[in-house]
Amino acid sequence: MLPASLKTLIDLLSRLPGLGQRSATRLAFYLISQPTADLNNLAQAIKDLPVKVKHCPRCFNLTSNNDLCLICADKKRQQNLICVVEDILDIIPIERTKQFGGVYHVLGGLISPVDGLTPDKLHIKELIGRIKQFLAQNIQPELILALNPTAEGDTTSLYLEKILKPSNAKITKLSRGLATGSDLEYADETTLINALKYRH
Ligand SMILES: [Zn+2]
Repeated sequence: MLPASLKTLIDLLSRLPGLGQRSATRLAFYLISQPTADLNNLAQAIKDLPVKVKHCPRCFNLTSNNDLCLICADKKRQQNLICVVEDILDIIPIERTKQFGGVYHVLGGLISPVDGLTPDKLHIKELIGRIKQFLAQNIQPELILALNPTAEGDTTSLYLEKILKPSNAKITKLSRGLATGSDLEYADETTLINALKYRH
């Protein structure tokens, strides 16, 4: 009974995380009532995503073109202090604390063989490449492993510590002020500031 284009929109919206068929329908009906200019802006912003939003070639954070992201390009930040995170969303709460003056490395997941996530699927070799570059210049890199305190996070931390041991890179971990099983993304600011300060 619905026009085909509206049905298509509802189908597409219902595939988004957190939206079921019912909320997708509600959202689609809300959009119908919006001014054409707003709808065009929304459509354009979505259309621009694959063209204008890219991954930083060094740390895999998001960037607006193929250049380094704003964090890697910031000369005031300590380039040999690398905070290793699972995904891009984890950068946001750490940046919000304004207490971290280093740079990041986004792994793009955690090691989880049952889900087919083996170390070669993550940006681990790129991380090793970054460390080697510092060592070649006689600069001591420090890695802060800021992975979620879950079984996969622990497995990944252990793996990184093991393969990086021969490099003599300094490796620390966020202190366990973070509750086990909790997500970095939802950690409150004070907890994160302390976790960074008392890293071990
Ligand atoms: Zn970057």
